Amino acid sequence: MEKRRFVVLFSIALGMSLLAGCAGNSSNSLTVATQTQSPSASAVNTATPQSLPSALPSPTPLPNVNNSFDRQKLMDQFAHQTPTQWGERVSGVRTRLQTTDKVIALTFDACGGGQAGNGYDKELIDYLIQEQIPATLFINARWIDTNADLFQQLASNSLFELENHGHEHRPLSVTGRSIYNIVGTKSVSEVIDEVKMNADKIESLTGRRPLFFRSGTAYYDEIAVKVVQALGMQAVNFNVLGDAGATYNTDQIDQALTKSKPGSIVLMHMNHPEKSTAEGVMKAVPKLKLAGFSFVKLSAYRLE
Ligand SMILES: [Zn+2]
Repeated sequence: MEKRRFVVLFSIALGMSLLAGCAGNSSNSLTVATQTQSPSASAVNTATPQSLPSALPSPTPLPNVNNSFDRQKLMDQFAHQTPTQWGERVSGVRTRLQTTDKVIALTFDACGGGQAGNGYDKELIDYLIQEQIPATLFINARWIDTNADLFQQLASNSLFELENHGHEHRPLSVTGRSIYNIVGTKSVSEVIDEVKMNADKIESLTGRRPLFFRSGTAYYDEIAVKVVQALGMQAVNFNVLGDAGATYNTDQIDQALTKSKPGSIVLMHMNHPEKSTAEGVMKAVPKLKLAGFSFVKLSAYRLE
């Protein structure tokens, strides 16, 4: 009996090690409490990075963001469409920058949801500021509510662009599909709420409407992605799994990041200071700079 339970837990832990987005502690989800604890970060990083090319490429035209929309029109348009795809790379989800330039977009999610999800990785953000590394931060409404002052500090720093990580951190489905035991949105109307409510919140707090959306858990169906686009945002995932839901240790993060290619989008987390994301970034970034890479925000390039 005990052995069987161990096997089940171990299987869940293995499954968890592959997750991309933070599974979080969504209020409407079962909590999977077997997440592997990575070694506590104790290494002092003494890397002395080389200076990197400072010139950013000229930005490509941004999508036409329409702040007003007709909910009923969207529901009529999409309510009768049946999704055939479910995952992190469904049709319409952007996963890289459309360029051969040696640039990388670091993206960090702040998932929110209880004490575990609402953390702030000060060491990570301080390092990005110290090294003047631009980054795109996908922030959930629950994290904003818990960290209002920090949110405003981040918003006031032009190094960062603040994007939309959803209102309740739910997988984006028009049929209520689940992943990691988190129930997704159940209808086009719930998709609209999940995307629009946090876009409205971020715009009201910063004066800037988000251009990009990433769902809680990074899962979508392709109809939900079309709804995101109709709301004026692009759904963005990744082609480099940087910290696997903040479960990777320092070396695993280093190994993931140093496999980046020109135009890579890296997914990591900024809400788990107790994990190794900062240490992994500090280990990999100097190597990437030496290899000739520089770092950009998502908005610096067209996405594909
Ligand atoms: Zn998340």
